[in-house]
Amino acid sequence: MSLPFLKQLGIGELSLPICTGARHSGDDSDGVQESFSPADGKLIGKIGKAKQSDYEHVVATAEKAFLHWRSVPAPKRGELVRQIGVKLREIKDPLGRLVSYEMGKSLQEGLGEVQEMIDVCDFAVGLSRQLYGLTMHSERPDHRMYEQWHPMGIVGIISAFNFPVAVWAWNAMLAAVCGDVSVWKPSKKAPLTAIAIFNAIGEVFKDNDVPEGVMSYIVGPGAVVGESMINDTRIPLISATGSTRVGIRVAEACARRLGKSILELGGNNAIIITPSADLKLTIPAVVFGCVGTAGQRCTSTRRLIIHESMYDQVKAALIKAYTTVRIGDPLDTTNHMGPLVDTGAVKDMQDALESARQEGASIIYGGEVLSGAGFESGCYVKPCIVEAKNEMEIVQQETFAPILYLCKYSGDVELAIAQQNGVPQGLSSAIFSTNVLEVEEFLSTRGSDCGLANVNIGTSGAEIGGAFGGEKETGWGRESGSDSWRYYMRRQTNTINYGKELPLAQGIEFDV
Ligand code: NAD
Repeated sequence: MSLPFLKQLGIGELSLPICTGARHSGDDSDGVQESFSPADGKLIGKIGKAKQSDYEHVVATAEKAFLHWRSVPAPKRGELVRQIGVKLREIKDPLGRLVSYEMGKSLQEGLGEVQEMIDVCDFAVGLSRQLYGLTMHSERPDHRMYEQWHPMGIVGIISAFNFPVAVWAWNAMLAAVCGDVSVWKPSKKAPLTAIAIFNAIGEVFKDNDVPEGVMSYIVGPGAVVGESMINDTRIPLISATGSTRVGIRVAEACARRLGKSILELGGNNAIIITPSADLKLTIPAVVFGCVGTAGQRCTSTRRLIIHESMYDQVKAALIKAYTTVRIGDPLDTTNHMGPLVDTGAVKDMQDALESARQEGASIIYGGEVLSGAGFESGCYVKPCIVEAKNEMEIVQQETFAPILYLCKYSGDVELAIAQQNGVPQGLSSAIFSTNVLEVEEFLSTRGSDCGLANVNIGTSGAEIGGAFGGEKETGWGRESGSDSWRYYMRRQTNTINYGKELPLAQGIEFDV
């Protein structure tokens, strides 16, 4: 495969399974992992499979690197991240193309994802001078108390296929300025994007004399590499992005060794449309939320909870808008929607639609698998609109595909909020309303129970400046902006006695 962007990114026919910064190693003696494009079904490249000895090498190298990296001043660590950001700017176009080609999102979204990496680098550079702790007044005379934040060690990053590069950057850049080192296991559905990044940033490590091991990747199956990581006591923090099923496995393994975890798992995101909603804003937000990334964003809109007075109007407007969605090659910028990631995802979508039918839901638009010229990979589907009820079993689940369930409510917004919250997941939510009372109710303590709650914008996507994450089955912890950095550091409370007495706390007298 000799696509120009692969050449620009240094991706040949066979890539090595591990890299500890600038040095790639490992081999293909244990077989290879192949990466196919869902856009045209073609083989993009092969990667040797990592062995247990490769895993040991990566973690031992990271452990050694941490002993050095933790003592580098944080702003100097930020300088490395700044230079990585510069490198990412240089490869934004080819990397965005590879993201699009390897996992199927539209080129615009592929480029947007790389932009997100660049933005998080900039954010982390600023953060490297702002890792603040608090001081507090001691109850004892001549004592000073404060807290400081120290680097934690190795951060294990496990990423999902749908944001194959941005999730790594959210974690690795914050970890790096916090003085941690990171080991990344990319998704086996999009491993070449990881290799492309390290091909580019290797120079930055070399130019700055950064020891091997500050940032690494290892390509291998979740059940081998992933399992080794989550059970490894040398890795104090695992940040895992993926399905709730895998997240529960990660949580169990980490909890058994009292390791920490950040879990960014499945969502089942709803938009509430109230009688006062401005449909000029609502309809495009819904269509992008459901069809963007072919419904394969954790924040994709999966449910609409529509007031009965608006229902027919919204339904008609959506069907009309869906007929204009152009589906096809994700690298062709005239298309809105590319393929699903693989034929397994297509089958999951078809199975979900069958379950919906059996539960009495009606498919009112789309859902078919597309065939014919341009659709040979078998991964293209028509986005689908289904009339359903929130309590149906299939509506309670996250199906990672462009299926939108329309549900109705009557009465006050409280009833819509109850439906919105009435699923096991808690990632993203939105309300379209111009009524301040409804909006405030939605944002109140009785309102949305999700990690993200938006007003007059959709559920899909988030800015890197905010803390990103969810509640309930979506997991725990936050990534990216705000004070998410605290998850990557250990907090230490310090008490200093600068007096000549030794007063005990709580007034305790202890004469010896
Ligand atoms: P997945 O759960 O199949 O895989 C996620 C990652 O976990 C992969 O790298 C996989 O190899 C690894 N893995 C599998 N078994 C493992 C094990 N036993 N131990 C350790 N790691 C293991 O998910 P996917 O299909 O790649 O991604 C889609 C899912 O990710 C959806 O549910 C989506 O909602 C979720 N997601 C969530 C967020 C978020 O921020 N909340 C973001 C992106 C994706």
